[in-house]
Amino acid sequence: MQPHISPLLPSFSSLELAEPLLAAVRRLGYEQPTPVQQKAIPLALAYKDLLVSAETGSGKTAAFLLPTLHHLLTLPSKKFGTRALILTPTRELAQQVFKQCQQLLELTELQVGLITGGDDFRLQQNMLRRNTACVVATPGRLLELMEQETPDFSHLEVLVLDEADRMLDMGFSEDVLKIANSCNGQRQTLLFSATLTHFGVIKMADKLLANHETVALNTLHDGHRNIQQQIIVADDNGHKQKLLAWLLLNETYDKALIFTNSRVQADALQGPLRGQKLRVGVLHGEMEQKDRNRIMALYRDGVINVLVATDLAARGLDIKGINLVINFDVPRNGINYIHRIGRTGRVDELGLTVALVKSTEWNLMSGIERFLKQKFIHRTIKELEGKYKGPKKIKASGKAAGIKKKVEPKKSAVEKVKVRHRDQKNIGKRRAPSTVVPKGESVPNPDNG
Ligand code: AMP
Repeated sequence: MQPHISPLLPSFSSLELAEPLLAAVRRLGYEQPTPVQQKAIPLALAYKDLLVSAETGSGKTAAFLLPTLHHLLTLPSKKFGTRALILTPTRELAQQVFKQCQQLLELTELQVGLITGGDDFRLQQNMLRRNTACVVATPGRLLELMEQETPDFSHLEVLVLDEADRMLDMGFSEDVLKIANSCNGQRQTLLFSATLTHFGVIKMADKLLANHETVALNTLHDGHRNIQQQIIVADDNGHKQKLLAWLLLNETYDKALIFTNSRVQADALQGPLRGQKLRVGVLHGEMEQKDRNRIMALYRDGVINVLVATDLAARGLDIKGINLVINFDVPRNGINYIHRIGRTGRVDELGLTVALVKSTEWNLMSGIERFLKQKFIHRTIKELEGKYKGPKKIKASGKAAGIKKKVEPKKSAVEKVKVRHRDQKNIGKRRAPSTVVPKGESVPNPDNG
């Protein structure tokens, strides 16, 4: 499949890759980097950990191979062991990546090895013992080899997880984590996935990537398979507090996680919720580490089952049994939203997430919906219905509200001529400011900061 290339993209030489790689790219007939290559390569060359959404056919393989091979070529290592490891879900994909890697390394001395099930175990052991710099592998066979203690990843420089979503869907989650944990902790990690809305991928990214950059290019719209996502509109924070207490007292859950955008708001919720006899703890970045550890232990053990947290504290949180996530404040962007709701709906569990949205947050929330290309379920709680019902245009617009379009009486021919004459006179005159927002933009909202 040929990837889509825009005429506006720069050339490969502007990416500052090692000359043998540029020559190989020319040989392969790649004229310009694809969008994913253009975005991911400079970040990867700067040693960033990356979470990239890109599908097969987008040029994603070269997007991780080129910077990885550039590092191996330009920073020779005297240390023993594999320097770059690429994990793929299937043998076929591993073979494909291996072949592309060989093509890119054609003009160099660097060696690449392939490890997949079904091939000779001893040959693979020998290949690893030869100090092969770059290894492409499927997780199952690699773990078998690791049980024999052959691979040495203690000096690994780059770990790539290709098609991570598929690896997780195929049940490789534990294997991948085991392999990653046996690798040098200082390595660079590049995680590629067809989608970023896969909760397992977000969890894996939290565990394996340090302060990563996210490169999102496509397919954010496929949704979380087992998370139901709802919105409840609210008048103000006082109203939100009542809705929150109602949800915590009436929904069924093992553990609930509440997100606020600020430490102050997180602290402020603790008292009122305790007043409702809920077992609540608070977690935010300004707490001392020992207090954070204590709260986490209480939550993990179920001594408290409601945790109010800020994003900062919730990163990397991996706790079983969280099946209710409530956004007390709408998160500041779509990626944060994905991170937050990824705390629930583990592989075999169902999750519910509710965002409490007041009028000043409406634009932000619809921006997140647009970003994810999803429409969330609008829910009302009868006994707590407020005055705010969402923006007017939603209430009044079209079929959904059951309103019939007003039929304008037909204009006579004389009237039509008058209208045209008036339009002619107005040419060049300024109109009153329009409320129409260009596609893809939101109305600036002073309250959104
Ligand atoms: P991938 O998405 O990695 O599976 O790549 C899809 C196909 O696009 C493969 O056959 C690559 O060799 C090819 N390819 C990758 N990058 C480029 C590029 N910049 N220009 C033209 N073809 C490319």
